[in-house]
Amino acid sequence: MFSISTVTSRIRSPFVVTEWRAMLLTYAILWLLAVGVYGAPDPRDKCDDSDSASANCKLPDCRCFGPSIPGGLDVKDVPQMVMLTFDDAVTVTNFDNFYKKTLFTRQNPNGCNISATFFVCHEYNDYWRTNELYRQGHEIALHSISHQTGLDYWAGASVETLEKEFLGLREILKTFGEIPEDAMKGMRAPFLQMAGDATFEMMTKNNLMWDCSWPTNDDDKGKTPWPYTLDFKSPQECPVPPCPTGSFPGRWVVPMVDWMSEDYVYCSMVDTCPYISDEDEILTFIKDNFHRHYDGNRAPFPFFIHAAWFSALPARFNAYNRFLDYLATLPDVYVVSISQVLQWIQNPTPLSQMKDFWKCWTIPENTCKHPNSCELIREDNGEERYMETCVDCPKVYPWLDNPHGDKPTVSYS
Ligand SMILES: [Zn+2]
Repeated sequence: MFSISTVTSRIRSPFVVTEWRAMLLTYAILWLLAVGVYGAPDPRDKCDDSDSASANCKLPDCRCFGPSIPGGLDVKDVPQMVMLTFDDAVTVTNFDNFYKKTLFTRQNPNGCNISATFFVCHEYNDYWRTNELYRQGHEIALHSISHQTGLDYWAGASVETLEKEFLGLREILKTFGEIPEDAMKGMRAPFLQMAGDATFEMMTKNNLMWDCSWPTNDDDKGKTPWPYTLDFKSPQECPVPPCPTGSFPGRWVVPMVDWMSEDYVYCSMVDTCPYISDEDEILTFIKDNFHRHYDGNRAPFPFFIHAAWFSALPARFNAYNRFLDYLATLPDVYVVSISQVLQWIQNPTPLSQMKDFWKCWTIPENTCKHPNSCELIREDNGEERYMETCVDCPKVYPWLDNPHGDKPTVSYS
């Protein structure tokens, strides 16, 4: 017979307590020996953001990679967020022909204007129009000064090189575009070529919150990964190595979830998706990809392009506008900047309480009606560049190591 009372009494016996202690001590010694042989188990290996007491990752500052809906909300309570992004220089042409025409007057279900994200690179960029995008409530993010070709340069870039490229650009945008430094929170690597840990080291050191350069496939409707933090080593596959392997607490990865064609061709930038010329067919293609998110786990829907995608084929611009018109008919869809997406993930809020979640942006007064048109020399190759800005023109074209353009080192007289 083995009753509860006997167990209780046995545990209470001083002899048994000593026995237990001896056992625990033995286990501890064995464990220490094992650790000595195989290396300490790294608690950072496994990210756990479950509800359990042992969870090591909690919102708002930590989230594990995966398809689970933030805050455990029911899918019908989740706003479908749509991320419209544009890469490279803001120019007169793409500003007048596209951005201004399609992004300045549309509204979300909360009555606020929609917001897109612009990954700006320096060369040929128009700082007056970049400021105008910001003034209208769009997000400005970093895409390097030089955007130079040669993937090795980006893959092997040191923290110092990345600082020159991305923080140098942040300084140029702050100086000549008058964008507040703390409004520039995110980045995308040119050619989506990250430099592994160096990229996230640079971000951590300089308070950049998120990166959106890392493509991922997603065949499985409902299993789309949501943005997550790099507190733990990411299990996301790495199609463009090197990817980060270290731990970078609080730095967010916004996975570039691929679009997919009917014949399973994947594309993370829509510009590289299979060519379709017919406007109705383009719209169907866009909607099909949108619905994989909307009818799935509502992970933010990426629509990532260069303005050149429009200029190469007007049918695309028409289809894009028709798609945005379609979204405006859906009461649970919000077109927001990437930083706004992360704001929601950090504070998951059900649709019924979304009215005041993202405060409407108040458009500041336009104080720059007559920008300066600067004719400048790019120092490293002697070529002419033009730059529009509402502040005084620099001496030379701003560049790496010279973001204010105030250190002329070469004379071309
Ligand atoms: Zn680019």
